[in-house]
Amino acid sequence: MASAPLSEFELIERIRSQVTHNPGIVLGIGDDCAILSPTPQCSLVTTDMLLDGRHFILAECGPEAVGEKAMGVNLSDIAAMAGKPIAAFVSIGLPRQSADTTALGILKGLRKVAERFNVELAGGDTNVWDGPLAINVTLIGETVPPGPVHRSGAQAGDGIFVTGPLGGSILGRHLHPKPRIAESLQLRACMNLHSMIDLSDGLASDLRHILAASGNLGAILFDDAIPIHDDAWILASRDGRSALEHALCDGEDFELCFTAPRKEIENLVLPDSSNWHPVLVGEIQAEPGLRSKQANGQIEPLTLQGFDHMIASKQFDDAL
Ligand code: ADP
Ligand code: MG
Repeated sequence: MASAPLSEFELIERIRSQVTHNPGIVLGIGDDCAILSPTPQCSLVTTDMLLDGRHFILAECGPEAVGEKAMGVNLSDIAAMAGKPIAAFVSIGLPRQSADTTALGILKGLRKVAERFNVELAGGDTNVWDGPLAINVTLIGETVPPGPVHRSGAQAGDGIFVTGPLGGSILGRHLHPKPRIAESLQLRACMNLHSMIDLSDGLASDLRHILAASGNLGAILFDDAIPIHDDAWILASRDGRSALEHALCDGEDFELCFTAPRKEIENLVLPDSSNWHPVLVGEIQAEPGLRSKQANGQIEPLTLQGFDHMIASKQFDDAL
């Protein structure tokens, strides 16, 4: 016999009984507000909403992956500022059918990632409706000395680095982001980072955000230096676009892109057991615009764009 659906109160109690505590939280789930103790560092606050049909397909991936992704994408934003995560607030709009099993599945995914990064699930909101699943996570973090890294600090002559291979995340990796929190803290501790961003919309787009924020600078990317993920090669063999194009334009890699004086990289000492290392992919230049240096040495303007929600939805409307 199927068990009776959980009430909202029972569901929240279930969530509350399973959270990992973070010492920065005085009061978590259960009252009208959570209470966070002030820290000597600045607070970082980020929020990201995921929608069924846009950021995931619930019927295909199941609720646990949704929870993993929702927590992971927000952690990636904290990593992009070189911060430490503390507390997460999760608001969900659950489709009426199987609302409680969906919620518990989401909770499992959220907890899996939260525990790995010592984040306390400190509150949220639960709604049931006749629409598709929507989930929003707000994440609170704190800066670490010597302070956060902004998008706006790039300087002409900086090397441009990425923390891992790019492209093809749509084959499945986008559902299981690996937020680069530890890597970002390692970088921050060892190097004078000028600017940083996480790659959610593709290097071709996200690097443009650094350039714009840093006073309309330009950049050159070295085509043969871009680390291309195996998934990008697989996609390329299917759709005829090049693997490099996938690496530059596909979204949701959740690697970091940072800029620093090139010599700074010598200060980064990683243990032999380290399974990542930054890759130099280009250089910031004073002349505005994005260019690519091809394998034959030729330099061309780079017109490729990454993912843009507003443009993508306009194209979707136009296609109807
Ligand atoms: P209120 O009606 O005062 O807003 P709720 O009944 O919505 O309070 O929530 C009760 C407690 O449960 C609050 O601490 C809230 O933050 C927490 N909560 C509700 N939904 C969730 C959720 N999906 N995940 C985590 N905490 C939740
Ligand atoms: Mg209340």
